[in-house]
Amino acid sequence: MKRRILTGERPTGPLHLGHFVGSLSNRVALQDEYDTFIIIADVQALTTNFDRPEALAGDVRQVALDNLAAGLDPGKVCIFVQSMVPAIAELTVFFSMFVTVNRLRHNPTIKTEAAAYGYTDMTYGFLGYPVSQAADILFCRADLVPVGEDQLPHIEITRFVARRFNELYGKVFPEPDAMVSRIPRLVGLDGAAKMSKSMGNCIYLNDEPASVREKVMSAVTDPARIHKTDPGHPEICTICAYHAAFNQGEHEDIVSRCRAGAVGCVACKKRLLEVLEAFLEPMRERRLGFSSRRVLDEILESGTERARREGEATLGMVRPAMSMDYFSGKGLE
Ligand code: ATP
Ligand code: MG
Repeated sequence: MKRRILTGERPTGPLHLGHFVGSLSNRVALQDEYDTFIIIADVQALTTNFDRPEALAGDVRQVALDNLAAGLDPGKVCIFVQSMVPAIAELTVFFSMFVTVNRLRHNPTIKTEAAAYGYTDMTYGFLGYPVSQAADILFCRADLVPVGEDQLPHIEITRFVARRFNELYGKVFPEPDAMVSRIPRLVGLDGAAKMSKSMGNCIYLNDEPASVREKVMSAVTDPARIHKTDPGHPEICTICAYHAAFNQGEHEDIVSRCRAGAVGCVACKKRLLEVLEAFLEPMRERRLGFSSRRVLDEILESGTERARREGEATLGMVRPAMSMDYFSGKGLE
């Protein structure tokens, strides 16, 4: 049997180059080797967007479409909607009994995100979303989780949950490994923070060529560089970071020419545009192939159906391990 991958996103808007570099690229590359589950984490989206659930329906489809456009083959991978897999909710409840509040409070990603959202008092659901995420990963007994580096503390909690469950009740779960990509964190167009929807510093996978052009041409480079012959500082340049991510072959050469003042920022941006267009254009074509609502919904429905069956199979191991299979007939003889 193939080993399993679980990964995915919260449906809170379109996916961007940061998502691709941080996690989509790995899941696309590994889809033949691994039995791959892609979660569209709509319940997790509610941790911050509980006051506007009506936005989910559009974003669920958007994220599914972005994944398909990025190159996931629906004949190979299972793309499913979190809220429609009851086993995930059930496991979240069981796991929450043995994960302490202190463990959740000390999670550095939760602290950073709470500060970014301006939360002075966190909801129970927000503080506890790493437990729900453990259930997302363990419901299908995944072995590997390709993620951005901000997710590493959460994967540690998932590993703890698997270990603790197995110790308490008997071995049901594998202890999954995180897989961080070559570029763990892609900087945003402003050069100040990671590329992130809420920062408005993104190139989206569904951006049109004109928009990509405008964004690249106005991206922040090396502010100290006035003339193109001034020696540049590629280590602080956004465009250079994008060359590293999307133009690995030429990156070293571009870095040394930038340092020597032998290539200007405009030329460097134009080259990046060519590279990005060669990367985005096939995605636009694949996107068209999945853009009928009927086709997309069928993919999501059949993926969700399969995820439900996997969840039931896992609960079929969890309940007896916890001696909670009361009416299974065992002990009646
Ligand atoms: P928001 O602004 O709403 O937080 P976002 O654009 O940061 O949205 P998330 O939904 O938080 O996107 O990201 C999902 C996951 O994708 C992240 O946890 C991370 O693993 C990966 N990811 C997001 N942005 C980047 C990035 N710039 N570089 C690498 N990985 C990223
Ligand atoms: Mg984020």
